[in-house]
Formats: sequence, structure tokens, C-alpha cells
Amino acid sequence: MADLPPPQSEPPICSARGCRAPAGWALRWNNPRLHTPDRRKTWLACAEHREHLGGFLTARGFLRDVEPVPASPRLDP
Ligand SMILES: [Zn+2]
Repeated sequence: MADLPPPQSEPPICSARGCRAPAGWALRWNNPRLHTPDRRKTWLACAEHREHLGGFLTARGFLRDVEPVPASPRLDP
């Protein structure tokens, strides 16, 4: 009776404001003014917001990597 569900069971959600879509992409970024060079912040993005959020970070020179979110619950075509 002591079994607890694993903490990572909730699906990742897009970081865009007001968006509740499941995230398919992780944008890894770093603000050199605030963070040490090896620090990575992560924004999650759905397919619709990946370009929007990526463009925001790219314009400021913050974007380092874009990775598919592992264990995405389902990828609809
Ligand atoms: Zn979104």
C-alpha cells in the first residue's frame, strides 16, 4: 500500500504562455549575463511554439540546443 507513482509520470507541457499542449521539444538555453557557461535552462515547446520560442532565444543569442523531448507520450502525424 506504500507504492507511489513515479514522479515523472505527468506529461511535459509547452512553456509558451497560455499553451497547454504537450511539449515535443526541449529548447536548451543560457543567458551569459545570468548563468555560468555550463548552465542550461530548458523551455519546453509544442510543435506550434517551437519556432516562436526558438526565435525569441535565437534573437538574443541564448539558444544552445534543441532536443526532442524523450518519452513523448504520443506523436501524431
Ligand atoms: Zn505551445
